[in-house]
Amino acid sequence: MQVVSEKVLYEAEVSKLLESKPVLYEVLWAEDLVDYTIKVTPVPLKRHSDYASLKRNLSNRYLAFMNTAGRGRLRILVCTIDAKQKILYLNETEFNGIWRFLKSAINRAIAIQREENQGRSINKPEDALDLSELYRQGYAVEIKNDILCYVETDISEEERFFISERDRILGKKNNIYFYAVQGNRYHDRDCLNVKFINAKDLRASVEKPEKLCACTKCHRRLLMRKATLLHPNQIRAIDNSFFIPNDISDFQLEKIVEQYGFVFEMMDHRTLKVFNGEDSWIIRLYGDVYTLFHNNYKMVESGRRIRGGYHDQNVRSESLMVLFEYIHEYSFNKHVEASKRKRQDKILKAKYGSLMDRYIQLKNKIRMRRYNRKSKYRFYKNNFVTQKQYNKTIDKMIKAAKQMESKEELIRYYESLKKK
Ligand SMILES: [Zn+2]
Repeated sequence: MQVVSEKVLYEAEVSKLLESKPVLYEVLWAEDLVDYTIKVTPVPLKRHSDYASLKRNLSNRYLAFMNTAGRGRLRILVCTIDAKQKILYLNETEFNGIWRFLKSAINRAIAIQREENQGRSINKPEDALDLSELYRQGYAVEIKNDILCYVETDISEEERFFISERDRILGKKNNIYFYAVQGNRYHDRDCLNVKFINAKDLRASVEKPEKLCACTKCHRRLLMRKATLLHPNQIRAIDNSFFIPNDISDFQLEKIVEQYGFVFEMMDHRTLKVFNGEDSWIIRLYGDVYTLFHNNYKMVESGRRIRGGYHDQNVRSESLMVLFEYIHEYSFNKHVEASKRKRQDKILKAKYGSLMDRYIQLKNKIRMRRYNRKSKYRFYKNNFVTQKQYNKTIDKMIKAAKQMESKEELIRYYESLKKK
């Protein structure tokens, strides 16, 4: 009996189904998987420690296959593939849901190849599978009734102890850095490399281990995890909404997380909260420009007391990194100095009366002018201006930018503004 390809049987049906889909991807027939490697990942691909580098080669397809269990309905799923290397990525749950259907399609493809006397790609559907990422020490991965399962292998009592010890280490939420006792790199808990460290050798720490360097694959994820300690489910959201659009490199991220010790919370897509020591800041995007708000506080004898609410810090920039530098630079000591000065002025006033009033006013004026010019303006002059100047410049820039054709022209224009 001749085996007919699903592509021939259902092509019309698939085209009809696709008409109702909002996005158009190419169709990948389950039969074609005979030439593919099906890589099963323990976590969804976007949480994969290697996602940043994998991403470049990934694309989506509509995977079309027959649901042979029900009434033989055609099913279409969005899937992710590496078209160049011919890899289909499925996570464990996805795999368990559809493997039996894919398997029968691949069997059909093998039969067609056999009939047409073509060279066979594989002998059985299981040959297309790559389960290496599902490795767990002490277990073997098997497929039983088309479902993945982990079967405990014969292990020594000692090994069993270390495996449960490893689970304990991994379960501790405070642990950030994971490494092998003999290794030279540290990893994020989700890094694939951690799974391949022998349970006996796995170590973890809250503080960055000295002498070890970061794993290139999971470094950003680890930094993001540390940066979002208070809200672990925001790792990707904050990176996607704030850091990646601002071209914040791994190097810069390392600086603000490891050196400055900032922790973040995303309030919405335009608003980011930054915790730095006892201070907290809100950065909010208006148009293309971020505005910085600082927590309210009150000066008291012992220093200051943080109060509810935020005030406009009168600092604006198109660059997040500039604001981060500002937050880091901001020193509470300046405020302590100010309050000390106020106390001194009070003493002088009590001593010399109204003549002193005039003198203090003058002194403060000079001090403020010097302060504005020197420390604030010099350091940030390319990026910050006062509200009034800022509004004026922006209006001028928008007017000029509207008449420009290309991005390059716009960039040249911005550069020319900076030099002034
Ligand atoms: Zn790693």
